[in-house]
Amino acid sequence: MTTTTKYVFVTGGVTSSLGKGIIAASLAKLLQAQGYKTTIQKLDPYINVDPGTLNPYEHGECYVTDDGAETDLDLGHYERFLNVPTSQANNVTTGRIYQSVIEKERRGEFLGKTVQVIPHITDEIKHRVQILGNSGDYDIVITEIGGTVGDIESLPYIEAVRQLKWELGEHNAIVVHLTLIPYLSAAGELKTKPTQHSVKTLMESGVQADVLVCRTEHELSESIKVKLARFCNVKKEAVIQSIDASTIYDVPILMLEEGLDSVVLDKLGLKSATPNLDNWNAFLTRHKNPKSEVTVGLIGKYVELQDSYKSILEAFIHAGAANEVKVNVEAIHSEYINKDNVKLKLSHLDGVLVAPGFGERGIEGKIDAIKYVRENKIPFLGVCLGMQMAVIEFARSILRLKGANSTEMDKTVAHPVIDIMESQKTITRKGGTMRLGSWACNLEKGSLAHGVYGVSKISERHRHRYEYNNDYKDQIEAAGMMATGFNPETGLVEIIEIPDHPWFIGVQYHPEYKSTVSDPHPLFVAFIKASHEYSKSKKNVSVA
Ligand code: GLN
Repeated sequence: MTTTTKYVFVTGGVTSSLGKGIIAASLAKLLQAQGYKTTIQKLDPYINVDPGTLNPYEHGECYVTDDGAETDLDLGHYERFLNVPTSQANNVTTGRIYQSVIEKERRGEFLGKTVQVIPHITDEIKHRVQILGNSGDYDIVITEIGGTVGDIESLPYIEAVRQLKWELGEHNAIVVHLTLIPYLSAAGELKTKPTQHSVKTLMESGVQADVLVCRTEHELSESIKVKLARFCNVKKEAVIQSIDASTIYDVPILMLEEGLDSVVLDKLGLKSATPNLDNWNAFLTRHKNPKSEVTVGLIGKYVELQDSYKSILEAFIHAGAANEVKVNVEAIHSEYINKDNVKLKLSHLDGVLVAPGFGERGIEGKIDAIKYVRENKIPFLGVCLGMQMAVIEFARSILRLKGANSTEMDKTVAHPVIDIMESQKTITRKGGTMRLGSWACNLEKGSLAHGVYGVSKISERHRHRYEYNNDYKDQIEAAGMMATGFNPETGLVEIIEIPDHPWFIGVQYHPEYKSTVSDPHPLFVAFIKASHEYSKSKKNVSVA
């Protein structure tokens, strides 16, 4: 088989949560910065067709692509690092693989044959891996295999990698294996044995790792690298140390210092050059040398989990760097906010973001928080459910529509200021049926949003079933909350603002999905700027 696209598979050993996604994204960044068109794909070994139906407690944030795919949060890292949009083809699960094989079987495409894991499932995996490569858009496709080598679920993927390595030939497909070198404090030593075992497990499936990336809390000595090389059949320069970093955005630089990119390019038979990381380094300098700081509240119901609001937290980092401000994020659980403690919990904040979400739990706390920031003129950004709650709070407090609510929370509510979208009313299946992906939005001239974006037509990503109820628009606007962004075809309200407040905006879409290192999202940048100004104004008042 001849091929022009090169494939890099990233596998993981020893334990989960080693950060394969960050290593894959960092490698991709270094290759992209040398002029190679690079994309990253994630193969997830679970049976859900996509993570859209998973609770954030199970799998962290669900990331949404332009084409409306509900995907693994690692795709967010890929986009944030590369600034290139991903798509449905960039995330494949076992569920999707089996679904398409079974559909083919029902169509009679395997007529007469017994359908089996090998070759049918592995062929489907190989096909999915090569869709991106065959598009002709990329020089290098990096495929991250979810899970840990040795897991039962990962076996078909490792077998597909073995076959592809063989079929594509030397220099066309390589395996980067990420492992852990634990430090035993009682012995005062770093231990290589778990890595040796995981490389051996990989070899039992017929796959030889070409490069080892070793996660460690302490520097790896030369002798440890030599030992790993000897026991794991790799060259010493292919043993790459990945030491804990203070920010994920340091990892590409650390990998460059370790030479991960040049080892990979050498193995792929491609030339390496000095990557142009000027923009990346400029971002890092701004990120690490803030001139001042702000504290913003992130109000949601999954705040105890690091991964549930991943894209929002990263968007804050991008926006902080853009403003040369350190953004301290205080995660506040909406379930524990009430009228009596809201002042105590929020009065010191410089800005408040009310997070997206589903279902009733914690919404009254979000509403109390919004009332407080609206009345006290604290900068506010409501995202998706956060925007819907702002409309409900306004209807209850200002329009005096007692018990106004969303029909998501109360089907028989007297004042459904947020209601199910017409197109959603007949939908009963839960998977992949929300209003998803990119939709256009026209901005009202002179609005806050228009000023923030600096253009009058935008496109943003969505994931919802409920919407602003236009039957209440005249009343709401007459009382001072303006709708300033609309879907051009349906009139769906995408943005609300309160002009009589210094910075109050709610958006039905998810701006956080589009914020990247090189393109921080304008709404987040403006929100942090407003929070910074608010913080300065508070200081001036207290000095006076
Ligand atoms: N649950 C709300 C809806 O479906 C908001 C969704 C969200 O915040 N992503 O409309």
